[in-house]
Amino acid sequence: MPAETLPDFHDAHSHAVEHQRGGFLIALEGEPRLPYMLSNQQVLAQEDRSRLLFGVPYVSHRGSDRSFDYPVVKYHARREGYSPSWVSVDLERHPRRLALIDTLNAIDWAPESYLTLARDHPQTQFLFCHAGGYDILQFVKMARFMPNVWLDFSATQEIFGWVDRQSNLRAVTDAIDHALAEPRIARKLVFGTDNPGFRQAAAVREAARRLTAPHDYLVGNFERLVATVGLV
Ligand SMILES: [Zn+2]
Repeated sequence: MPAETLPDFHDAHSHAVEHQRGGFLIALEGEPRLPYMLSNQQVLAQEDRSRLLFGVPYVSHRGSDRSFDYPVVKYHARREGYSPSWVSVDLERHPRRLALIDTLNAIDWAPESYLTLARDHPQTQFLFCHAGGYDILQFVKMARFMPNVWLDFSATQEIFGWVDRQSNLRAVTDAIDHALAEPRIARKLVFGTDNPGFRQAAAVREAARRLTAPHDYLVGNFERLVATVGLV
């Protein structure tokens, strides 16, 4: 199906520019190497604020990066092996307006680790990418009650079968449906896909099909988030 049949959307979790108008173009550095990885320099070079496309640099564990200053960054604990306290110290040294943190299958970080970061850094907005995977219920609860917690369902929505309507774990896909239907949580959800690792167009179509009024989820919430943190 051609791209023009897709509704307008921002992709808050993307590693490549595909069909989205804007969103976060997230860098990936270090190991393991993936064919589509973009460096910090490359995502910032592709940034186009006129269409609300923002490059998001990646914070690596290397000591030299401790001086790396940028208002919006991505922390990838599973890949880099850093601890919650390492991230907390980084947030104190470089006040970030928005911190994207990977949460998928975080075997070394309990959901409470993310909650503590959000509590200890109330001036920072947190976008918990992938909404915890197996731990999704705890993350949905955080989005409901913590004013500075936002979620995307990138990757999780496809891994657990939500995108193809073939759930392989109802606890997860029901939690996605609940979050989208509960107004106090739905306003904290930004649409993301993790493309090209996961399918962008299929996820957009499914969201548009399931929601009676998908504009807030696909466009409006992202625009409110970037306004909240002063990127626009
Ligand atoms: Zn990703």
